[in-house]
Amino acid sequence: MEQQQMISVPKPADEEMLIIECCRSEVSHCPNVLTKTGRIKEAVEAWARENRIQERLRERFYESRVLFHHKFRISVSGCPNACSRPQIADVGIVGYVQPQSKPEGCIACGACLRVCPDEAITLKDNLPVFDRAICQGCNFCRDACPNNCITLSHPKLRLLLGGKLGRHPHLGYSAMESENLGDILSLVKEVIGNYLNQAKTRERFADFIIRTKGKECYEQH
Ligand code: SF4
Ligand code: SF4
Ligand code: SF4
Repeated sequence: MEQQQMISVPKPADEEMLIIECCRSEVSHCPNVLTKTGRIKEAVEAWARENRIQERLRERFYESRVLFHHKFRISVSGCPNACSRPQIADVGIVGYVQPQSKPEGCIACGACLRVCPDEAITLKDNLPVFDRAICQGCNFCRDACPNNCITLSHPKLRLLLGGKLGRHPHLGYSAMESENLGDILSLVKEVIGNYLNQAKTRERFADFIIRTKGKECYEQH
């Protein structure tokens, strides 16, 4: 008699519930990278181990089938191109910079305007002016300038919370911007702690964030 093939169904006890993904900047030596992603991943992993975050997330789904969207995803991108899709992760961390113009040297060639993917630059009195509300904070304009008259701020990090796909998609909202990784991680730890202590049974993180933050989640993209 033909032997029946057994289908292995992962049990909650075996499931990896916290998944931290990075863009490929460090393995592919991406020229666009603005912040190292590996250090962020390692810092979150160390905190998660010390605080039993995998186990505590697993306890929320004990004795039930763990589906893809039950897993908690943290996505780290080294620049605003956001290849690891941080906008739809529970928590997203994105590196960016702020361009600044030097008062001398600009020949009004327009190269920075043409290269900006977001049309965030205008020329005024022969100097580039950056629209901070539109600028995504890459380094393209600096690299395009033939006279080196655009400089970049120190790398910063943008923290996105509450992204998800599914029946009611939601892009993570910008909850914090900081040069300091410690500040970003403090807020990450706080919101995950709140989620573990206060979320309803089987409520996913994005829904918890939307419920508790309300309008804030929709106004700050
Ligand atoms: S997110 Fe930016 S740094 Fe990371 S792989 Fe994509 S382009 Fe490179
Ligand atoms: S940093 Fe990027 S998005 Fe911002 S003005 Fe320069 S090219 Fe445009
Ligand atoms: S690329 Fe440089 S020189 Fe040309 S307009 Fe922009 S800032 Fe000025």
